[in-house]
Amino acid sequence: MIRRPRRLRTNEMIRSMVRETHLGIDSLVYPMFVIEGKKIKKEIPSMPGNYHFSVDTLVEEVKTLIDLGLKKILLFGIPKFKDEIASEAYNPNGIVQRAIRELKRNFGDSIYIITDVCLCEYTSTGHCGMIKDQRIDNDSTLPLLSKTALSHVEAGADMVAPSDMMDGRIAHMRRVLDENGFEFIPIMAYSAKYASAYYGPFREAADSAPHFGDRKSYQMDPANGKEALLEVKLDLEEGADIVMVKPALAYLDVIKKVKEISDVPVAAYNVSGEYSMLKMAINQGLIGKDVIQETLIAIKRAGADIIITYFAKEILEKGIL
Ligand SMILES: [Zn+2]
Repeated sequence: MIRRPRRLRTNEMIRSMVRETHLGIDSLVYPMFVIEGKKIKKEIPSMPGNYHFSVDTLVEEVKTLIDLGLKKILLFGIPKFKDEIASEAYNPNGIVQRAIRELKRNFGDSIYIITDVCLCEYTSTGHCGMIKDQRIDNDSTLPLLSKTALSHVEAGADMVAPSDMMDGRIAHMRRVLDENGFEFIPIMAYSAKYASAYYGPFREAADSAPHFGDRKSYQMDPANGKEALLEVKLDLEEGADIVMVKPALAYLDVIKKVKEISDVPVAAYNVSGEYSMLKMAINQGLIGKDVIQETLIAIKRAGADIIITYFAKEILEKGIL
């Protein structure tokens, strides 16, 4: 007798019955960029199909997303000016804070707003931390990150997502949020965030490329898998509610390992370079758009509970799910 696995592949009816991994709208988060100004909706050249929105057009876009059924966003801000102490990051009237208030005023609980908490879009150096003696100083950065997170939450953010990779920031942020009565706000930690070339298009989108040096003294070495588990363990000890691996595609093994040790949900960030690579190839007719679903399913199969992806809107618009 020969085993015949093909029996269960005969038609879509049976295939769907035995399918192991499902991609659902509930697990998708859509990253968005908000900028100063009015009536602006400007396509980001390196990320076709993604835009810079001013607050007013962001509200319009989010209305469209809600109508499509996409209700979770990850918000990034591009401020009007940058300085050494990233003051626009925690300005109560900064771009992200105003965007959150406007979205909540219009949509209330119909939109779930996660905010990226970092300083690199706001520092004149383009680094994620404060500079001391030519180094990215860890401990003097923590209060500014927590202050930024608090200002987002005070504006109405539902969740904060620190992406800076400073040591000890989750514990610091948790304490500051709790002390201010926000013990119910979850923290999604960018736990295993690698110093990756796949962030290239994002840096154009967020205008956050470092002006000197690189981020290798705080983001992780792509060669290290075990170290990701240490980062995850520390973030869990410090109180992270969700842990994240970023990027996703070149790190599927890391997602799998993190899933095995984590007792909280695991998020994966399908980053800008991963998006643009596929998008450009699809636009040029080199590969079919089915590659989007195949890619996201792979991330899910590796163990991600939540996928942050620039494809989220397109997936719903084109009925890819
Ligand atoms: Zn940063």
